[in-house]
Amino acid sequence: MLFGFCGGMEIGNFMSTDILAFYLGGGGSIMGYLIFIVPTFILAMWAQSKVSSTYNKYARVPSRGRITGAEAAAAVMRSAGISDVKITQVRGHLTDHYDPIGKKLALSEENYHGSSLAALGVAAHEAGHAVQHKIGYGALKARMALVPITNIASNVLPLVMIGSFFIIGGAFSLTLLKLGILCYVILTLFQLITLPVEYDASVRAKKELVALGILGNDEMVGVEKTLNAAALTYVAAFVSSLSYLIYLLSMLGGSRD
Ligand SMILES: [Zn+2]
Repeated sequence: MLFGFCGGMEIGNFMSTDILAFYLGGGGSIMGYLIFIVPTFILAMWAQSKVSSTYNKYARVPSRGRITGAEAAAAVMRSAGISDVKITQVRGHLTDHYDPIGKKLALSEENYHGSSLAALGVAAHEAGHAVQHKIGYGALKARMALVPITNIASNVLPLVMIGSFFIIGGAFSLTLLKLGILCYVILTLFQLITLPVEYDASVRAKKELVALGILGNDEMVGVEKTLNAAALTYVAAFVSSLSYLIYLLSMLGGSRD
């Protein structure tokens, strides 16, 4: 998926598909490409840089309580009665995610050990996903159900795009186009259902950080800004998938004229 933490939440990398879409354009009209693909690519890049800069800013602001991300995640889960989720460390930058299948809450090293506003925000957000899982939050269940088919679609899509770039015109090309549309319907649906899941996890995180006394109300601005910037990347990912879907549908319309 496009950037940001939770991106790794058990799904393959959408970024490569977006870059392919940008370079190959799928053989559609230049106009459609300029209207649908270029602006969303810029939006995605902007959201990416926004989440990086916001995270980096608040990763340098220590919390007064000095509790680490791992401790904060544990506290949020404990207060929800969760005792069977393991908190682990994972390599990389913003690779934090909750793995509902393995019941693991993986925090990147800087968020696991860090006690910055950004670290606590991300850690509590991931714990928010564990809480969603525990209570059977509907949107998370729907998202999990979509994971296998979304993985197939994101693996098939690059092949479809490369194929359609080399084969222009003919019945085979129409089949590829339809296959591409099907893949994007699945990806767009997945990105759509991700929005309430991510939003809800952040709402839970903010509430619990204050309720458990981990952060003071005056420290919440940093958490709020970090989590909002992350939310923006999910919106950008959805808009990006939707735009490409519309673009492909317009090509299908065009091919029938
Ligand atoms: Zn998340």
